Amino acid sequence: MGKYRLRCLKCNKIIKDKYTNRCNNHNALLRTEYFSKRLQTQKLPGLWKFYQWLPVKDYLDYRDGSITYKSSNLAKELNLNNLYISFSGYFPERKCNMKTCTFKELEAPPTIQRAKEKNIKKIVVASAGNTARAFAYISKFSDIQITLVVPETCLDLLWLIEDATINKNNKLRLISLKKGYDYSDAIFFAERLSLLDDFTSEGGARNIARRDGMGTVLLDAVLKMKKLPKHYFQAVGSGTGAISVWEAAIRLKQDGRFGTTLPKMHLSQNVPFIPMVNAWNEKRRKIIPDIDMLHSRLKVKAIYANVLSNRNPPYSVLGGVYDTLKNCGGSMYSVTNNEAISAGKLFESIEDIDINPAACVAVSSLIKSVDDGKIDSKDVILLNITGGGEKRIKEKHTVKKLKPDFLVKDLNIPINDIF
Ligand SMILES: *Cc1c(COP(=O)(O)O)cnc(C)c1O
Ligand SMILES: [Zn+2]
Repeated sequence: MGKYRLRCLKCNKIIKDKYTNRCNNHNALLRTEYFSKRLQTQKLPGLWKFYQWLPVKDYLDYRDGSITYKSSNLAKELNLNNLYISFSGYFPERKCNMKTCTFKELEAPPTIQRAKEKNIKKIVVASAGNTARAFAYISKFSDIQITLVVPETCLDLLWLIEDATINKNNKLRLISLKKGYDYSDAIFFAERLSLLDDFTSEGGARNIARRDGMGTVLLDAVLKMKKLPKHYFQAVGSGTGAISVWEAAIRLKQDGRFGTTLPKMHLSQNVPFIPMVNAWNEKRRKIIPDIDMLHSRLKVKAIYANVLSNRNPPYSVLGGVYDTLKNCGGSMYSVTNNEAISAGKLFESIEDIDINPAACVAVSSLIKSVDDGKIDSKDVILLNITGGGEKRIKEKHTVKKLKPDFLVKDLNIPINDIF
């Protein structure tokens, strides 16, 4: 017997895990059920200390993870007594050393390890940039072949610090899509690639390894807070991170030592691209393209936090963002570029670290919710700073940009032209 089983959230049947990301009969998410119900950390480095609740038998030589600290300065500014910050990125003063500077670095290690254990030869990953950077970096800890599909406009995000590229295996392929194509086109093209022999789509939000990897954010946080937070703040593009934290909260509730009230999720998007905010504010499970996605390509170009630009998020799917918000009576916020930028400036000036545009959106949503009187100053709050320290790491290290192996000019080209 392994350490977990998979359950389809629609039929409740147990599904055998052959790198399975979907029930044969249903579109619902699968969820991991770990046999051990009590959170117990292992003496392993970084995120692997949560090995017990990661769907893997072994681990990679990757040694980092997110950190959690109690905020003094931002907390004081907002008059909050129990504001905790989860930080994923580079923040040496607080011993956080994630070299690709976002929480995507928590998804890649368990995903690659799980794929390896399930005998997957080649995985395909679509990305708006941060995921690709994380997978490119983590690929050096494994010899599985990884093909990244990224819009050309996001190539600037594909930097790695020099020491991180040393020993880079030659099994990494980078495919970029010509200007004009966006993240959702990258997802489409990656799906096409994954139909080739030996290729497997990494799975995105459906991949339990990705979700449980990001769930470690909350596991680390409860070790500091000693209980589940009453409120959780995060900016969402796909919402995978929020679903992951929600699932981790359910596990922690079953543990029993961290309280029985699941957190209220406060999720935010960047105006003008706010499909999930629109749908949620009208209490709809469905995202309606003619309402929520009008002129979406233009809107995606107009947002400051480009990573929040998923045009096909796991919102409606059973176990997805809608269900998460509904189950906790959560809220969604829309944040303008200017609001995000000024929240980011405030954060950087008082918490002493630069943060990613998406994290600026989350900080702004926290400020809004305080202004609207939605939270009490005594409430335990977890603010997920999903990315940060990029400026800091680039001051200390030289970075190199990855060069694409192939530029796709037409999404419908014969795949054999590439491989
Ligand atoms: C991807 C990303 C997000 C959004 O996460 P989702 O899981 O797609 O909702 C937020 N912040 C940063 C820094 C990201 O890279
Ligand atoms: Zn099913």
